[in-house]
Amino acid sequence: MNKKYHIHTFGCQMNVHDSEKIAGVFSETGYQEASGFNEADVIVLNTCSIREKAEQKFYSELGRLKKIKKNNPNLKIAVAGCIAQQKGGKLFERFPYIDFIFGPNNIDKLQIWVTGNTVNSALEDNPDYSIKLIPAKREGRIRAWVSIIYGCNNFCAYCVVPFTRGREMSRRVSDIYNEIQSLAEQGFKEITLLGQNVNSYGKNLKITVDFPDLLKEIHKIEGIERIRFVTSHPRDLSDKLIEAMRDLPKVCEHIHLPIQSGSDMILNLMNRGYTYKEYRIKINNLRNAVHDIAITTDIITGFPGETEEDFQHTVAALSEIEYDGIFAFKYSKRPDTKALDLPNHVEDKVKSERLKKILDLQETITYKKNIRLKSELVEILVEGYSETDANKLTGRTRTNKIVNLYGEKEDIGKLIKIKILEAKLHSLFGEKVLT
Ligand code: SF4
Repeated sequence: MNKKYHIHTFGCQMNVHDSEKIAGVFSETGYQEASGFNEADVIVLNTCSIREKAEQKFYSELGRLKKIKKNNPNLKIAVAGCIAQQKGGKLFERFPYIDFIFGPNNIDKLQIWVTGNTVNSALEDNPDYSIKLIPAKREGRIRAWVSIIYGCNNFCAYCVVPFTRGREMSRRVSDIYNEIQSLAEQGFKEITLLGQNVNSYGKNLKITVDFPDLLKEIHKIEGIERIRFVTSHPRDLSDKLIEAMRDLPKVCEHIHLPIQSGSDMILNLMNRGYTYKEYRIKINNLRNAVHDIAITTDIITGFPGETEEDFQHTVAALSEIEYDGIFAFKYSKRPDTKALDLPNHVEDKVKSERLKKILDLQETITYKKNIRLKSELVEILVEGYSETDANKLTGRTRTNKIVNLYGEKEDIGKLIKIKILEAKLHSLFGEKVLT
């Protein structure tokens, strides 16, 4: 009988897509997907260490697995992702029931372990990782993630990513093109290009190519109707990219541009490489070039040294820019990062209060922006049935807003025109417009 695997993913889109690759390796090796922990012969925890909370969630899940393994001693447990890379062999000391540990840039090595070889870790530098073709077992059939660059060279003072995912490594244009071409042939309609900083794409390649050039190449692929990308570093967002977004119809009118703080003093301490004024100019340029572009961002509250005045600059930035949505978090101490050694760490209570203020303010802005869409005609790509109401279909606008509607099964996978009837905070409701 075939063996079965189960993957539990923590963290960001990067990890979600890495888990698709991990599933791809298992499938190629003849494994089937288990319905849950109890049915699995192998369990992989794909970990995230971006914040302390994510790390704690992993440890509590690992504790649960200890009990499962006690009842089923043949169960194999693997730990992948950023915590695996960061803690390495120390995990074996604390949790001797772990069988294999591998880092985000060593997913290709999983096969060696899965096929029964006696290795217990894959954490070493893997300079050829970007040219490895790892098959992904994708979660959907309509939208797909495609990695274009791994790692990050920026060393923002709060961020653990350069220590866990290593330095930037761009994938070759031809590999990316072929992967997307194959996705188009399988019927995928939308792709999201993934990287910690997509705007750095191409810097380490032998040929001269940058991110806007890559977008132009991908744009030629027939069958792909929409192109998205995450994440853009504001410092590296070029005029050339803004022009590409303006001129390439398949590139959706949405950008995620993390500001992190509205205070120049804090941005400097964070090592972000831009001032609020410089960031603001880029927002203006985007809005002037790309009609009705949606802009989302990330915010950290209570970074070391953040005074009430600094925080008010962030509040003012949110009011001035009026983002479509934000991801906001309290500053979290991360190992190896520069921010650990900064003076004047902010009390947790203050961080929480500031976070609440930011989230409350953004709710009013998001809702106000959604209300403006009422009676508008928009195009959505129908992704499937709604998770919260199985009678409704769900899709996204080009600006990445969720729209629910009543419709036919045949609409799934199609671009359809919708009239927005109702606006809520986190989604819109609409009806199909017959064309
Ligand atoms: S750009 Fe900064 S925040 Fe983003 S992954 Fe790199 S170091 Fe982390």
